[in-house]
This record gives sequence, C-alpha cells and structure tokens, in this order.
Amino acid sequence: MQPGYLIDSYRHEFETKIKSADSKNVILEQTYFYPNSGGQLNDLGTIEAEDRETYNVVFVCKKDGNISHEVDKEGLKEGTKIKCRIDWKRRHLLMRYHTASHILSQFLFKETGALITGNQLDLDKSRIDFSLENFDRDLMMSFESKVNEFLSKNTEVKTYFLPREKAMELPTISKLAKGLSEDIKEIRIVEIKNFDMTACGGTHVKNTSEIGKIKITKLDNKGGDRRRIYFVLI
Ligand SMILES: [Zn+2]
Repeated sequence: MQPGYLIDSYRHEFETKIKSADSKNVILEQTYFYPNSGGQLNDLGTIEAEDRETYNVVFVCKKDGNISHEVDKEGLKEGTKIKCRIDWKRRHLLMRYHTASHILSQFLFKETGALITGNQLDLDKSRIDFSLENFDRDLMMSFESKVNEFLSKNTEVKTYFLPREKAMELPTISKLAKGLSEDIKEIRIVEIKNFDMTACGGTHVKNTSEIGKIKITKLDNKGGDRRRIYFVLI
C-alpha cells in the first residue's frame, strides 16, 4: 500500500489505527504524515487516541521500510483507534516551496543543461544545488521573472505512477543527477502541464496559482561545477 500522502497530499485529517508502538515511536496502519526525506521537512501535528488523550507528533521519518512517527510522550498502544491532524499551514507552505523548486529546476535544466544534485526546503527559504560549468549570474537571476510569469498562468500539477520502463523514456527524468534506485518498479511522476515531468516522492500543490511568487535571494559558487541558488516565496 502506498502511503496516503502520495495519493492525496491535501488530506490533513484522517482516522486509522496504531499498527505498532515502541516507546514514543509509532507506526500507523495508514499515514498522511510526510516523513523527513528528499529535502522536504517532515510534517508535524497531533494524534488523538480513543480516550481523547492527545499526543504531539514531533518527528516523522522512514525507518526499515515503514514510516515512523515520534510523539512527545508514551502511552499509544498497538490496535488503538486514532484521529490524526497534520499541521496544514506548515505542510501547505512546504508543498508550495516544493512545487516552486520543480519549476525553477526545470528552467535551470532547460536553459543551461544543469543537473540537479540536491534540494532543501525550509519554511522560510528553499535552495537548489546543481552542477554547471558556466555560472552566469545574470542568467540565473533572470529565472526569477521567468518562474513568476509561469506561476501566474495557473498551471495544473498532477501526480501518478508509471512503470519504470515507461518513466525512463521521459526526456526530463534525466535532470536528476543521482538517478533512481533500481529496485523502484513503479515511479511516481509529478507533471506540471506542458512544462515538466519528473520523478518525485514529495508533496505538491495541484495548481501553480497556490504558490504566489518567488524571489531569488542568493547565488553561491561552491567550487568546481557545484552551484547553489536560494529563493523565497513572497
Ligand atoms: Zn517534488
């Protein structure tokens, strides 16, 4: 079963059961909490047990093939029915940053051939790492208005799964420098209509109109061909 956040990234309240509990770490039968991964911060929120006791979710990560939720106190037991609430303001902000970083990455790739080597999304800024020989700062800064013009077009963003062989045929898949693990048979595609298709397991908005505008705040030359671009949502 795919984790819930890959199927419906807008669901921020759900009911499920505790599958297993180990001290303050619990695994749920289904979860919409996003785990800290792929440069995107984990969700926060609460778990309310049948007896109305509420536990704060302080960290979420992938562990041994499961998604582990760390809560602030012990007491949750296997089999307990629970109500979960995700801090939606935080999650939606990360979805907006995440989708904006796809768009900026695609401009970088399309116009310079840069390969994306990493991403880090924070709540107050985002950065993209990429490799590129010729670092033309004016060209980099020009992507700000290009991204903003694109964002203003209210473009649809879709996610779906494709068999590995089909996904590998997509021209824009190759901008990820690291490539995809061989054992992943079903690749999750994030498609920004008529603009970009890429493999990604994060959470994204459904329409670019939710993002607003970006501002490029800093360009870093990390030596060799390693570059970094920072932006904020405004
Ligand atoms: Zn993504």
